[in-house]
Amino acid sequence: MSGTVTDTPAITAREARLVACTRCTRVWPAETARCGRCGKALVSRDGHSLSRVWAWWVAGVLCYIPANLYPMLRTQVLFTVSEDTIVEGAIELATHGAPVVALIILIASVAIPMGKFAAIAWLAISVSAVAAPRRMRATGSTKSSSTSGAGR
Ligand SMILES: [Zn+2]
Repeated sequence: MSGTVTDTPAITAREARLVACTRCTRVWPAETARCGRCGKALVSRDGHSLSRVWAWWVAGVLCYIPANLYPMLRTQVLFTVSEDTIVEGAIELATHGAPVVALIILIASVAIPMGKFAAIAWLAISVSAVAAPRRMRATGSTKSSSTSGAGR
């Protein structure tokens, strides 16, 4: 049948001995040192990209904690003033007859950021778990070890 996917397993550009220019996207053989089109030095893979992901993830979590511990809402009713965190403010709004607004605030300020932290961590762990066996194959290492990727 024409137009069907072949049984050939997918390979990476590195396995095909190819490297792409990060400036102009032209693809070259892996042994090429500089892009013939734009002159940029060619590197097969950024070895520190996963470290940067974790650094930004930790920075995000560190900023998220005080954002949820310090007051974000100041409510003044006659002579009383109260300061509330995001969650306390959502509860305050819900008790004062605005449950839909409270729900929107909770979803946008708590559920979505927590989901993003979990998704990014899961993706980074998945990538490191996949990358570890490939690294071992590429280096020809025969030493058996855990492929969890957590011990890097
Ligand atoms: Zn180029």
